[in-house]
Amino acid sequence: MRVLRSPAAVQRWATHQRESGHTIGLVPTMGALHEGHLSLVRAARHACNQVVATIFVNPTQFGPTEDFARYPRTTRRALALLRHEECDVVFMPAGDQMYPAGFQTYVVTGDLATDLEGRDRPTHFRGVTTICLKLFTICKPHRAYFGQKDYQQALVVRRMVADLNLDLVVKICPTVRESDGLAASSRNRHLGPADRERALAISRVLFEQARALRNGLYTARAAERRGRQALSKAAGLRLDYFSVRQAHSLARPGPSDRDLVLLAAARVGRTRLIDNVRVRLNSGR
Ligand code: AMP
Repeated sequence: MRVLRSPAAVQRWATHQRESGHTIGLVPTMGALHEGHLSLVRAARHACNQVVATIFVNPTQFGPTEDFARYPRTTRRALALLRHEECDVVFMPAGDQMYPAGFQTYVVTGDLATDLEGRDRPTHFRGVTTICLKLFTICKPHRAYFGQKDYQQALVVRRMVADLNLDLVVKICPTVRESDGLAASSRNRHLGPADRERALAISRVLFEQARALRNGLYTARAAERRGRQALSKAAGLRLDYFSVRQAHSLARPGPSDRDLVLLAAARVGRTRLIDNVRVRLNSGR
């Protein structure tokens, strides 16, 4: 496994792989790796003959009051895990290699990015799309792998790829969960045992409301109201949002919409967690 730090070196490697007829799979990460990330590397390994993972804690996707400084940085462990998964290249640039002095060009996102995560974090998806576009032009992947865990992010990136005619496919892989249902997340390591127990309410309520929708017990609006009520009352949680949306557009669903996603964000102590569950309703109900 090669560890490369300069964008130019990775571009040279990627050009050579493409000229040799190889398929490049890209897995962008911020380095605090867990089973969720490794599932993306395995999916890339399965479908592509060259796999590049990136490790970069991207400052432009953190707001001024967010946890950029506190974000876990565990590079040595990450490299060992990626080597174990038979990654071919790890691209690990320094901050000023991605944002050198004078940097001033960003992607402008649209409606998909303004609600939910974008409501309290107005520059978040600008940072995400800008770094992804840079990683795409540096690593030249045929396929880029993202987790459903960050559902809105995956849709925003997929939208950018379509809108800007980028020549790659965005693959969205299922959310990996702990055995009790909590979505694997880099931020889970900030949770003490009591907070971890409290955090479980998020996935529990998402699954409860998803089941109720699937069983035809409630409308989307009622499921949203019930989920919101349950999480507002959950001890030790501060709810940011609980929402039921159309799975492809994140618009509010009407009565005939069948492909839905339930999304939630909440704070447990100082740690902010997000999760979501997709629901496909049977037609003809
Ligand atoms: P991050 O390092 O947090 O930026 O995440 C890098 C990638 O891993 C993103 O595409 C995330 O959506 C994905 N990811 C994070 N957690 C999970 C999870 N529990 N299951 C699947 N993918 C995940």
